[in-house]
Amino acid sequence: MGVLKRYGTKLPITGKTPSVNLEEGSTPLVRLDRIGETLGVELWAKLEGCNPSGSFKDRGMVLAVAKALEDGAKALVCASTGNTSASAAAYAAHVGLPCYVLLPSGKVALGKLAQALIYGAKVIAIDGNFDKALEMAREAAEERSFAMVNSVNPYRLIAQKTGAWEICESLGRAPDIHAIPVGNACNISAYWAGYKEFKEWGQIPSLPKMMGFQAEGAAPLVTNEPCPNPETIATAIRIGNPVSAELARKAVRESGGQFNSVTDDEILKAQLMLAKDGGIFAEPASCATLAGLIKLKAAGKLPEGATAVMILTGNGLKDPDTALSQAGRPIKIGSTLKELLEALV
Ligand SMILES: *Cc1c(COP(=O)(O)O)cnc(C)c1O
Repeated sequence: MGVLKRYGTKLPITGKTPSVNLEEGSTPLVRLDRIGETLGVELWAKLEGCNPSGSFKDRGMVLAVAKALEDGAKALVCASTGNTSASAAAYAAHVGLPCYVLLPSGKVALGKLAQALIYGAKVIAIDGNFDKALEMAREAAEERSFAMVNSVNPYRLIAQKTGAWEICESLGRAPDIHAIPVGNACNISAYWAGYKEFKEWGQIPSLPKMMGFQAEGAAPLVTNEPCPNPETIATAIRIGNPVSAELARKAVRESGGQFNSVTDDEILKAQLMLAKDGGIFAEPASCATLAGLIKLKAAGKLPEGATAVMILTGNGLKDPDTALSQAGRPIKIGSTLKELLEALV
């Protein structure tokens, strides 16, 4: 029924907030018994790739856009090469606002760029890096009274708490372990805030341990220093200086959790395992969660029989190139039944 409808009473919306709804949220929580058995835990996957633009970004974007409309913004603007731009472009199209996406020239992931373009956003490639794009977007937003919908927008974080509420409502409690990929660290912070509120409101008796996973080449929260040149195949978490670092550190500390890093190779192996043993195709950043749980298990740090939820933040179809690089190839045959039967082994 959409995030604003399902959780409107718990979100900062007023009689004047326009209703915006692409039926985001209420995503599947799927139990993965085969992989769970290997890990010795009761394993669940929250399929955020089932959101309308294919990532969790829609949960926060719906409120950011509703608030932008309420405030009379004439357009949306964001700097992003990834899922934020896809989500912003989708909601802008849905409500009939222009959307401007600033990209660093030549640093564009093709699948996500295709989304921004097909939704009709004006995609502007600037001669500079992402930080420069963000700075320019901010200045332009101010000059023109456009709404800035990067994760600096506070409404995004607020509405992303709904993911935690959905999990608690599905399980009837919070999980013991919450595994999540960490880039700008907004989502881990939002989930922790959501869990804590549900406990305060008497909806759940206990809180999960927040386990945040970063890619080894972009792990500022693991090394405890900014990473000037972040590098990983998991582009959605290729972030060197997370916006919500302090909130995320607090979430991990308060919950008794941990930050850990995983290598690109471990991420790819986990992506394959999720697909082959779980029937779920998630983009590389999302698979840092399973890679992380496998690593914890190997280190003897995954309690037997615990309930663990992985947030699979984005759909695998967004990055088919990475998947194809390890997925094998079709078998080529001629057109006889004999050849076909030989291939069916
Ligand atoms: C944005 C994003 C992340 C990182 O979330 P943060 O809030 O920046 O930590 C992880 N995975 C996917 C697919 C994303 O789009």
